[in-house]
Amino acid sequence: MSKKVNETINTENTKLASDKIIELRNSNEQYFIMNGRRKSYHILTYGCQMNEHDSEKIGGMLTSIGYEETDDDKNADLVIFNTCLIRENAELKVFGKLGEVKGLKRNKPDLIVAVCGCMMQKEEMRQKLLKSFSFVDIIFGTNTIQELPGLIFDVEVNKKKSVDIIDDTELIYENMPKMRKFKYKALVNITYGCNNFCTYCVVPYVRGREKSRLPQEIVNEVRMLAEDGCKEITLLGQNVNSYGSNLENKCTFSELLYELNEIEGIERIRFMTSHPKDLTDDLIKAIKECDKVCNHVHLPVQAGSNEVLRRMNRKYTKEHYLNLVEKLKQEIPGVAITTDIIVGFPGETEEDFQETIDVVKKVQYDSAFTFLYSVREGTKAAEMEDQIPDETKHERFERLLDVLYPIVLERNSQCIDKVYPVLVESVSKTSENYLTGRTEHFRLVHFTGSEDLIGKIVNVKITNVKTFHMEGKIQ
Ligand code: SF4
Repeated sequence: MSKKVNETINTENTKLASDKIIELRNSNEQYFIMNGRRKSYHILTYGCQMNEHDSEKIGGMLTSIGYEETDDDKNADLVIFNTCLIRENAELKVFGKLGEVKGLKRNKPDLIVAVCGCMMQKEEMRQKLLKSFSFVDIIFGTNTIQELPGLIFDVEVNKKKSVDIIDDTELIYENMPKMRKFKYKALVNITYGCNNFCTYCVVPYVRGREKSRLPQEIVNEVRMLAEDGCKEITLLGQNVNSYGSNLENKCTFSELLYELNEIEGIERIRFMTSHPKDLTDDLIKAIKECDKVCNHVHLPVQAGSNEVLRRMNRKYTKEHYLNLVEKLKQEIPGVAITTDIIVGFPGETEEDFQETIDVVKKVQYDSAFTFLYSVREGTKAAEMEDQIPDETKHERFERLLDVLYPIVLERNSQCIDKVYPVLVESVSKTSENYLTGRTEHFRLVHFTGSEDLIGKIVNVKITNVKTFHMEGKIQ
């Protein structure tokens, strides 16, 4: 089950899956003719944008074999959990929801339940699932998404439970069909996996070593997206800055940005996530020179203390980080800088915590994702002594927010009375008359307007600001 594969085996697997795809498609077409409705799937996605994009690929494959999406799990013929292992919280949510789905399966024995994603890359998690939730029919991992039709075939036709996990692979599957959530914006993988082994993080263990897609494949995908009306792309990788390091014909991330910047139809280019140790002067120059690359850099600091950064294995110091921020601000006037911060890493003293507060004050972040350190089995940090008591973590977390939120509000206040191009994303959840969209700096803006503006870039004057969003009027 756990194996590192070579190209030959995977080529055969793909062929096998293709035969099954044809058969499944035919039987689903029959089902549609007989029942007047298509079989439906419901995906529950937990975690990051990488998982969101994987779910788009899963949806694309299911659509290609004749399924249609439903947003109600009670109506679904297939329920898929795309799981996350980054925090304990996400794990508990999956187990809770699986308990609910067990009831659905009892009343509808033909319902297929599948679990995939980062949690399933860990042997202990798979064992726990097979033991406690034996009704689950399919288990697959982050490296075996392309095998899903074959796994469904095994359950439907061969009546057997299907498990397909690969620990790591050199292969990248191109041209997988995708069920994109939005027409005008898209997520585009540029790297998979990670080589950094930050001591708190499970990603290198569950998504394998870093591998980059060929630049030509990325350019082709973005061209096709542009032809399809897409205006904004977000380039995804655990560390986009090290893009290209394993390619035979070297291509750096900045070179890739220059190439993508030339594609007609694309108006905004974003990227996630930048590792501070790999943010080069060349890249800063590319962000500055490429007019479509948004002036927003998400630069996770994680902690301000050099000792904590060393134990996190982040490979940069507070001084290096602050120096980078200074360069970004000097070279790209008005650049927005956002970050990730972990509070309560093992051994963090009050003095260490104050170093984090100092970074927040010095950088003046536009926004930040803040996390309480969460023990992840299998990581080095989980084994460290001096785990911080929950009470101390929570207390420091509150103090961090007390410093951070006024800074974010102040940064937003500087936008009042200014006009910004906003890509209209959707109707606001709070009011039907409100549209919602983002500025190039990733600020969320609510404003009055008609639904037909969704997908367009409009000028909005900012009239009022809050910590997490701004309000404005179309100009
Ligand atoms: S850079 Fe560090 S935190 Fe980010 S995915 Fe890699 S190991 Fe995890």
